[in-house]
Amino acid sequence: MSDLPQPELTPGSFVDLLKSIGVERAWFVYDAETGELRASDSRLEPIRSLIASDTRDFSSHEGVFLAVGPTTGALFGAFVHKTCRGQGQGGLRYWRYPTVESFLRDGLRLAKGMTRKSALAGIWWGGGKGIIARSPDAAADDSEYRSRLYQEYGDFVTSLRGAYICAEDAGTRATDMMSVFEHTRYTTCVSADVGGSGNPSPMTARGVVVAMEAARHFKWGDTLSGKRIVMQGIGNVGSAMIRELLQRDVGSILATDISPERCDQVRAEFTSDRVEIRCVDRGDNSVLYEPCDVLAPNALGGVLGPESIPHLQTPMVCGAANNQLLNSARDGRALAERGILYVPDFVANRMGIVNCANEQYGWMPDDPAIMRHFNRHWEEGVYVVTQTVLRLARDSGETTTGAAIRLADERARLEHPVWGHRGQAIINGLVRDQWHLG
Ligand code: NAD
Repeated sequence: MSDLPQPELTPGSFVDLLKSIGVERAWFVYDAETGELRASDSRLEPIRSLIASDTRDFSSHEGVFLAVGPTTGALFGAFVHKTCRGQGQGGLRYWRYPTVESFLRDGLRLAKGMTRKSALAGIWWGGGKGIIARSPDAAADDSEYRSRLYQEYGDFVTSLRGAYICAEDAGTRATDMMSVFEHTRYTTCVSADVGGSGNPSPMTARGVVVAMEAARHFKWGDTLSGKRIVMQGIGNVGSAMIRELLQRDVGSILATDISPERCDQVRAEFTSDRVEIRCVDRGDNSVLYEPCDVLAPNALGGVLGPESIPHLQTPMVCGAANNQLLNSARDGRALAERGILYVPDFVANRMGIVNCANEQYGWMPDDPAIMRHFNRHWEEGVYVVTQTVLRLARDSGETTTGAAIRLADERARLEHPVWGHRGQAIINGLVRDQWHLG
């Protein structure tokens, strides 16, 4: 049993073991009729049973696909959650994972999050996520290595026949997306030079600020004017948020970052005395405890948990980072018990995927299909959906995250008006044609 691929292996040892038993590709596919998760190979039982028994992150994901990069030996994953509304779409993360288990759980959780984000954003896409496990000894910054790695990932995506549609995520750069694009048409988030939508961050920033406005108006009947906003992280999204907030006449902004270069750049851009930029050490989360009207976590996920929540000095949290709550049920309740209004991240930060999801439908300035997400009356827009979620939570006594998940899961079951549940049909074809044999 011990020489079977086990979830506690590192991705590198897992790949070595797969190769030693002649496995280059593997699938784990949910059978809705029997309610069972099937595996492409019985020797993968330890992995199959880990996924099937993961009650937190696994929820009938339609398919998990793994492959080994032919020359890089990197572990590739494509996680497809629900494809009722469209094929599974979501970003490609390039990240270090200590174990295969952590790789799998991250993929499952992120793919499910994408189903919910797209459903609540009213776009006709399902949820998916890609992952490349970053090897500790890979020449990660070598451009030849990176382009080969991402081209191999592009081949992997092509082999999946569009069950998973790729996009950009943490660790992946714009140039990497071009390498993916060279080897597959099943990707979005490519550069404007080749007809893509380019950097989504200004759109994401505007969406988060509209969510703040919706929440302030819902709970306090006011606006952001004169308010104090505190944010952690002034990367692509954070700095664009400062721009948006100044346009809304906020009283003051305090923003931190761990990168001195980034702090200098942002200081140079915003000379207003309403903006204070503070450079902090990695691991210094004290900004979360600053008194303010709105706290915006814009750096990393997992910053709101038992350690931080008791010390927050804000009536409201609304930011761009994914998975801000360490544990969504427990920490959502803890925030509610402290009377802190939490706007779920996947409600506020939808514009990244909205901006790139429909690239193939063409481009126009101020595209109405995108700009309507910012208006105050469209029922699928950020403003109305934020208020709908807050109202549902207030009326039902659920947490805001619970209410958002319930609404999202209802919408995620709707089938695409033209293509129906096509993603599942694609996956069935992959299984029938023994995709795992290459
Ligand atoms: P980014 O990498 O450009 O910026 C993140 C910034 O946070 C960096 O400048 C980094 O130095 C800083 N940082 C990291 N740890 C910190 C800490 N402890 N304290 C203070 N600063 C810290 O990323 P981004 O594109 O601005 O995205 C920000 C967040 O929003 C990420 O969690 C991302 O997943 C999420 N998000 C982004 C988009 C998008 O369109 N870019 C869409 C949806 C969600």
